[in-house]
Parts: sequence; C-alpha cells; structure tokens
Amino acid sequence: MSRYDKTHYWKVDINTVSVEDPNIQEAAIALRKGEVVAFPTETVYGLGADATKYDAVQKIFSAKGRPSDNPLIVHIGDKNQISELALDIKKHAFKLMDTFWPGPLTIIVKEKRVCAENVTAGLNTVGIRIPDHPVALALLQASQLPVAAPSANRSGKPSPTTANHVLQDLSNRIFGVLDGGPTGIGVESTVIDCTEDIPVILRPGGITLEAIREVIGDVIYDSALYRDDQKPKSPGMKYAHYAPNAPLWIVEGGVETLQKQINELTERGKKVGVMVSDEHVPHISADIVQSCGSKAHLEEVASKLYDVLRSFDQLEADIILAEPFPYEGIGEAVMNRLLKAASHVVKL
Ligand code: AMP
Ligand code: MG
Repeated sequence: MSRYDKTHYWKVDINTVSVEDPNIQEAAIALRKGEVVAFPTETVYGLGADATKYDAVQKIFSAKGRPSDNPLIVHIGDKNQISELALDIKKHAFKLMDTFWPGPLTIIVKEKRVCAENVTAGLNTVGIRIPDHPVALALLQASQLPVAAPSANRSGKPSPTTANHVLQDLSNRIFGVLDGGPTGIGVESTVIDCTEDIPVILRPGGITLEAIREVIGDVIYDSALYRDDQKPKSPGMKYAHYAPNAPLWIVEGGVETLQKQINELTERGKKVGVMVSDEHVPHISADIVQSCGSKAHLEEVASKLYDVLRSFDQLEADIILAEPFPYEGIGEAVMNRLLKAASHVVKL
C-alpha cells in the first residue's frame, strides 16, 4: 500500500465551488496523475480514482482494504459519457437516467471494457451514476474522467458522511480529501440492475422502490437482500459492512424489552451504547444514549445513521443496542445497513 507523508486537505465552499476553483483543479490533476482523492457526494464521501487506469484503481482497494471481488461504482459528470462506457442500454435504463440523474441511483449496464478490469471485478457489467453534489460534479467535470469511487471508509466500517470521518479511516493512506461539509442523504445510492427486461434493485438506497416504480412500472428487489441463505447478485452485499467496533444488536419488542436488555448487560459490567429514535430517548437509561432522529422523519435517520454508529467507537461502547426503524421509503435502506452492521443479530 502507498503511504503518504500527508493527506492533502482542501476545503471547498459548496455555494461558490466551480470547475476553476484552485482546490478542485489540484484534486483533478491528482486524479489525472493516477492518485486517489476523496470527495463529498450527496450520499456519502467517495474515494475516487481514474476508472480507466488499473494501477490507480488498485490504490482504492489497498487504501480501503477492500476485497478485490467487490466491484466499484463509476461516477460521471455528464450523461453523454455513458455511451463511451456502456453497451446495449435498455429503454428503462435511459428513463431512469433521465429522471434520477444527477442523483443517488447507480444503474448496472453492460460494459464496453473501457474501465480497468479491477473496477468491475471481472463482471461484464458496470455500475454508473452522476452524483448530485456541486463538489463532486466540479471534480468530475474538471478531471474529464470516469471516476471509480466506493465509499471512502476502511472496508467494513460505517461509510463516511464528513471529511473528518474520511481522515479517521484513511489519513496518510490517500493523496487528498476535498471537504465540502457533511453529506445530505447519508446512506449510499440505490443500485439497480438494468440488464434484464425487469430491473432488479440489488441495494436499497437514496431512491426508493416506490419512486422507481412510478417511472418504469415493473421493478423487484433481489430476493437475497433480506435473507442469509441466498447469494446476492451484488458482490458487495455479501460482506459484513457498516459495523462499529463493538458488537451491535437490533432489539425488537419496544422500549421495555430494550431497557431489560440494557439492564442485564449493564449488570454484567458492560458499557452499553444505545441508538434510538428521538421519541424514545426520554424513556431509556444507559451509559450512552444516542438519538438517530425522529421515526416520523426517516430522511433524518438516514443522514445521522453512520455518524451515530461511528460515535460509539469514540465513546468506547462494549456493546451497542439499536431499535429497528420502519421499512418505509428510505427506511428500507436504513434497515438494510443496520442489519448488516449488526451481522443480522436481532433480539426479541
Ligand atoms: P460502495 O461503492 O462501497 O458503495 O459499493 C458499491 C456497491 O455496488 C457494492 O455493493 C457492489 O457490489 C455494487 N456493484 C458495483 N458494480 C456492480 C456490478 N457491475 N454488478 C453488481 N453490483 C455492483
Ligand atoms: Mg461502501
């Protein structure tokens, strides 16, 4: 792995950023030279490299410690770049691009072999999106490259929603980070496979199934998403992910059940961290109680989720208990990440 004496830190103002911004230019030049640079998107911070250069992409895998069979999403700054990267694009895929780009929807299409082979991990498809963030778009337009970019965290850890999270994980392991403040949505893009007649959601995310159905009609979830006994179509979905250092349990059955679990663990000498909705904070007593926002505002829960999960590492919790959130709208993505963070440990 490359070690860097320092990781460049470039602060950018999201209200005034442009392609000409000297920090954007410096970061774009680094990408063109084959370096890895982290940048904010509307979902989480990404770790980018020139998608056409094998060695540059390899730096992403080694900085993150990411398994090589987990393909990367390619970010573009302009819809016209799609024809350089993909083949046989179906009508429903074009409709989705027209409706949701720029935005948190990654579309899997057949690839043309323009990207380096490590981007697609040997598959004959590639995942592509245009992010909806002024800093990401300025960087993509300044570099004029397709940029492969997974989340900018060490593999397995919660994704970063601030530049500080990126530095906690990747300081001296990457060339630089563009700091555009906290990201908005807070969970990753929805990944949808558009290579068949009926598109399949491989990972729930910022764009909901309901919103997709309104545009193209038929769409289904990959049946492996919420089951342990099936192989997911998206290689990345098989790995433990998003996990804080301490074990995490999801506790169903309401506040009383949760408090009972907390008491038992506290009696056994554990420092217990709890993640609950605003509504339940006043009813819970534990060493650490963190609110993840209101159950009535699942967008807020999504935007706070990773920051709260990371806070338990800083506060050195021995064990973390979380209440489940409703599987509605973006709640689907929140529960997908939470179940993975908990390695599917659910207590009643
Ligand atoms: P990350 O970049 O860390 O947010 O993860 C990207 C996700 O997209 C992982 O779950 C990958 O497995 C998935 N992905 C990327 N490219 C493909 C592809 N060509 N086919 C299926 N899944 C993909
Ligand atoms: Mg990731």
